[in-house]
Amino acid sequence: MTTTPLTRVQTNPASRARRRERIGLITEASRRAGTYAAGAGDRAIFPQADALAGLDAFRQPLPQDGRPAREVLAELDTFGSPATTVVNEGRYFGYVTGGTDPAAQAAAILAGAWDQNVGSGSTAGEAIDAVACQWIVDALGLPSQSVAAFNGGATVANLTGIIAARDALYARAGWSVAEQGLVGARPLRVIVGEEVHTSALKALRLAGFGAAQVERVPTDATGAIRADAFPQDTDDHTLVLLQAGNVNTGASDPFADIIPGVRERGGWVHIDGAFGLWAAASPQLAHQVAGVEHADSWATDAHKWLSVPYDSGIVIVRDGNDLARAMSADAAYLHPTAEAPMNKGIQMSQRARAIETWAMLATHGRTGLADLIERSCAHARRFAAGLEEAGAEILAPVALNQVLVAFGDAERTAATIAAIQAEGTCWAGSTVWHGRPAMRISVSDAATTADDVDASVEAIVRSWASI
Ligand SMILES: *Cc1c(COP(=O)(O)O)cnc(C)c1O
Repeated sequence: MTTTPLTRVQTNPASRARRRERIGLITEASRRAGTYAAGAGDRAIFPQADALAGLDAFRQPLPQDGRPAREVLAELDTFGSPATTVVNEGRYFGYVTGGTDPAAQAAAILAGAWDQNVGSGSTAGEAIDAVACQWIVDALGLPSQSVAAFNGGATVANLTGIIAARDALYARAGWSVAEQGLVGARPLRVIVGEEVHTSALKALRLAGFGAAQVERVPTDATGAIRADAFPQDTDDHTLVLLQAGNVNTGASDPFADIIPGVRERGGWVHIDGAFGLWAAASPQLAHQVAGVEHADSWATDAHKWLSVPYDSGIVIVRDGNDLARAMSADAAYLHPTAEAPMNKGIQMSQRARAIETWAMLATHGRTGLADLIERSCAHARRFAAGLEEAGAEILAPVALNQVLVAFGDAERTAATIAAIQAEGTCWAGSTVWHGRPAMRISVSDAATTADDVDASVEAIVRSWASI
């Protein structure tokens, strides 16, 4: 590509020195990042005690005077790098922690040098953001006219969707939240499943819906809402939050049985699909979320299963006007377009995080994405089979990429989890499932291989036997 040559203003020596320093530091940081990636696979997944003690190097008062940035970078690497949890080597199974796809990571490095504010007015940032938003809607099989927007994560995406829902339901009833506020408005009925994610409750709270206002529908043995227990008398002042992917079991609510009725009666359905919504991107697994496309809004994460760097979530709203009503802002100096990210979310200034998702999807395409999702689920089933064969108890059917395991009673299960976390081959966390303490294994890193699963099963079984 050719670019129009510019007449450069002669820069002074200070500017030239600053530029040289920037170039040197970017190169040095990339070199150190490469060395980190090269060594991460050889050490304990969770940092050992001496590495954690090294973090004391950072616990200093604000320095009075400065020092060379190169020294600061070296300190960061020397004491910070060894004290990180290794999340990109395929053997970290805590929470729902996606690794980082190499293409997305590389894009983040370049985009870091660009430092674009994509809220409004970033040329490259906004153009790529718009494409990534469309690709997400397409990849998830959602209605093509839906509007997507990036934000900091599924909590923010849930909050954004809930506020869009709230304001839309009121607008249809002739009440403008923007003008009249919430005081005096007829209360909305809010319905969630018994197994609603805690962050969705936080989002509801931030949007003005207290815990006592929220009705919980019973769930079944897999953690999905029981369709037969779902109220049939919802109205046009009803907001329903359903879930694609229970955080413990991966099970999804019965969308096809619930959504049409709620919408026919004038209500709004929002989906928390932080990781589980990605099942829709796989022809093999899409049946698990059948009917999810009929909802009004959806929240998902890119930083979990899609394997892009933190922090990156996405909200999608069926009718873009509903998102705009809730989120647009304007000022004389801004000149934002209606599609500007600042008008589709809570933040004004924001980093151009969609670039990483664009790079991931551009690199792997639709088939690569489906393969990533399917592979993780196959590894989860392999985990369950291996652990079950060794005598452990799998507490719920493996719907997607989450596995729940108990090793005898509560005490032995807790001791086994502590032992594997200290042993270092892999890392898995703990949870309580329907009253039973359990190890929770989430296969969300694209780097995980069958060998990683086998080595991890072996280490877990060894840890169990050692107590
Ligand atoms: C992780 C998760 C969230 C919260 O997502 P963040 O990106 O951490 O804000 C919400 N819902 C479900 C089901 C999740 O798994």
